[in-house]
Amino acid sequence: MNLPKSNSLRAVLFIFTMLSATSAMAQQVAIAIHGGAGTITRAKLTEAQEQQYRSTLTKAVQAGYTLLKEGKPGLDAVTESIRILENSPLFNAGYGAVYTYDGRHELDASIMHGGKMNAGAVSGVTTIKNPIDAARLVMEKSVHVMLSGEGAESFARLHSIPVVENSSFDTPFRYEALQQAKQRIERDRNASIDLRAVDEKFGTVGAVVLDAEGNLVAGTSTGGMTAKRYGRIGDSPIIGAGTYAANDACAVSATGHGEFFIRYHVAADICARVKYSNMTINDAAGSVIHEVLKPIGGDGGVIAIDSKGNIAMPFNTEGMYRASVDSNGKLTVAIYK
Ligand code: ASP
Repeated sequence: MNLPKSNSLRAVLFIFTMLSATSAMAQQVAIAIHGGAGTITRAKLTEAQEQQYRSTLTKAVQAGYTLLKEGKPGLDAVTESIRILENSPLFNAGYGAVYTYDGRHELDASIMHGGKMNAGAVSGVTTIKNPIDAARLVMEKSVHVMLSGEGAESFARLHSIPVVENSSFDTPFRYEALQQAKQRIERDRNASIDLRAVDEKFGTVGAVVLDAEGNLVAGTSTGGMTAKRYGRIGDSPIIGAGTYAANDACAVSATGHGEFFIRYHVAADICARVKYSNMTINDAAGSVIHEVLKPIGGDGGVIAIDSKGNIAMPFNTEGMYRASVDSNGKLTVAIYK
């Protein structure tokens, strides 16, 4: 009989179609990265500088996206993109990090996996070449979430993470920024509170991804704020403030005036709005940046992605270095409003 045969053929075809549809769905990937927010205007960048920023952002976002397309874990994509930005003198992370008031570099980084709800961070490290790798190491090879200072460095050395002299993060451009900040601090000497680090920002880097297995991952790395006090830790290594990821909500990496981002628990608040209020990623991220932070002087922005690969990149400053490749493979690179 013909009928059963064609029926089973149809069934096979149906299963095949369903399977390929499911795997196509599972393979939807997307990525967004940032290189810091602040008073970045067209007037402040030469055409050549703008070109350099654009090409490094493009290289970093494409490197992460390529890994995601190959089906590699989101953690690999996040660390790869961030490492490229840390190794570039253009951004305030790794080589090119800002100076503390005392003329040194103290770096912070964190990473979070939204499927495992696992996280790792390092703070106040001074010799780790790529702090994002150390943050991942803390997550994967220790029972802790954050290691700081000398403890983080000895843990990194134990696992053969490359270490360098603190001076290898030096750049003339950031040194000049420190001198200007110091002059301003001197002028404001009689202010009733310690104004160091205020208004001196930004350039932190971060990445958020949706990987082929449906995991959301976020990571952030920074040198902090110019002329910050020795020992000051910002939001970037703090899970829930500068970095957060949860598969049932979103992944967020922040940049901006860290003290505000810590007090307002920015990254976790955005994901909570997605999870409990059913807000879109656009509305959730936009409302925190524009309605919560802006009125109180919390300058900065975030990149955020949800479980469907929708991306939001709001900021309340003049600009934010940013790039993304969405779930349709569309590349966006932008700097200004
Ligand atoms: N959020 C960073 C910090 O406060 C600075 C920045 O993003 O530019 O350390």
